[in-house]
Amino acid sequence: MLDVFFPRDCLQCGEPVEAESPLKAVCAACVRRIHEVGSLACETCGYPIYGKVEVSRECPHCQYLRPFFQKGLTTVVLRGAPRKLVHELKYHDNFLALSDMKALFRRSEPLREFLAGGGILVPVPLHPRRERERGFNQSHELAKVLAGLAPEVLRVEQVLKRVRDTETQTQFTRQQREKNLKNAFAIHQPFLFDRKLRFILVDDVFTTGSTLNACASILSRAGCKNLAVVTFGHG
Ligand SMILES: [Zn+2]
Ligand SMILES: [Zn+2]
Repeated sequence: MLDVFFPRDCLQCGEPVEAESPLKAVCAACVRRIHEVGSLACETCGYPIYGKVEVSRECPHCQYLRPFFQKGLTTVVLRGAPRKLVHELKYHDNFLALSDMKALFRRSEPLREFLAGGGILVPVPLHPRRERERGFNQSHELAKVLAGLAPEVLRVEQVLKRVRDTETQTQFTRQQREKNLKNAFAIHQPFLFDRKLRFILVDDVFTTGSTLNACASILSRAGCKNLAVVTFGHG
């Protein structure tokens, strides 16, 4: 009822969010500007492929990545409202943003098709100290949301733990990030898992892919042969 009298302001443009908007924290006009990823996307990082598809063309977003996973999917390009949603969830505990991210996951046909194939959803872990500070791990929250899209074939398992508290990486080069991430993750022992199953690493954002790939390398070394990564946004 409160929404009727006091509509929320769109987190992207500040205008009131209409009741008809498909999202709760973003107005209809800003939702229309969200770039949702369709079926034409890079197999590794999930970034949309524009224009004419050439088989040999390398994706500029992951051409330097030597992936330990076989497939990557993402749902939106991280510009405008989606970037705000991630920020709101991570730094302002805004669970309305999480519900909008869930709505965007649900709108993605390629993602729903992929998840219907089942698997173990593995959140990219935060260091325990960071998780205590934040009160939650956004990747774990997103993994739970994804599990809800096909609960009969998906489940969340915290297979990985973060053993080193890596500093915030935004201003690092690729080489610095990779060095920093080396040995940052480990298998959560004792954890018995069926290596024949499909494992799906979950994170909020695909940037260079180095964090996800560091996690994938741990699982791959542990014997997992069927590995994918799913992120909310790319950018
Ligand atoms: Zn707006
Ligand atoms: Zn790519």
